[in-house]
Amino acid sequence: MKILISNDDGYQAKGLVALYEAIRALPGVEVEVVAPEHNNSAKSNALTLHSPLYVHTAHNGFRYVNGTPADCVHIALTGLLGYRPDLVVSGINNGANMGDDTIYSGTVGAAMEGYLFGVPAIAFSQTEKGWAHLDAAAQKAAQLVAQLLPSLPSPVEAALPWLLNVNIPNLPADQIKGFKVARLGRRHAAEKVISQTNPRGDTMYWIGSAGAAKDGDEGTDFHAAAQGYATITPLQIDLTDHQRLPYWVPTAVQMSAPVPGGSA
Ligand code: MN
Repeated sequence: MKILISNDDGYQAKGLVALYEAIRALPGVEVEVVAPEHNNSAKSNALTLHSPLYVHTAHNGFRYVNGTPADCVHIALTGLLGYRPDLVVSGINNGANMGDDTIYSGTVGAAMEGYLFGVPAIAFSQTEKGWAHLDAAAQKAAQLVAQLLPSLPSPVEAALPWLLNVNIPNLPADQIKGFKVARLGRRHAAEKVISQTNPRGDTMYWIGSAGAAKDGDEGTDFHAAAQGYATITPLQIDLTDHQRLPYWVPTAVQMSAPVPGGSA
């Protein structure tokens, strides 16, 4: 089994190293890392289209790219690796990617890029920043990968890949209750933008922190993680508001009607 690992915190991030060490210790697994050179958190699925990408190899064998998480997985799958991995794994992120975070997350973006190319993928995050109990999180991640490896889609079945978003509480291994499948919750809108004055007198702005949980009810990732579970959320990409499709039909029909006296 060949596994591609990436992340969004950068190739030197502790979470990436811990995930790599835990996964490559699994039997029958070959692992390669292609990760961003710098922190690319909140870059979502962004691709770099207007400047060239360069790949370098670090002393530990990790390859790093002057681009986004999605760039890394994209170029890995479209030429750099020279083979198709059986699984793409991203993380372990420095902080939660729950609820709306998944829209912004570069950790999820890297995994989603694999998914878009038909490769099953998992995004791993720790729920708190700071890497506390990172070894426990890496062991949980490796446990899930080991569980899924035997059932990975063959290349023939790869038209139906899956994408998992996993959040692991920063707890010692014996205090993580286990895995729980959860839907995404919702966050409140982000905190206010922070404005400061730079040394030259210009006003500069910093994006505020993510909001607290707004929908953290039972069944959500927020709830399960707060209870001490590692959460598993299967994700899909279709953003269509299927419920409201019929609501918009009359508007489109109305606007498509011939305008009286108007030219076609
Ligand atoms: Mn990050």
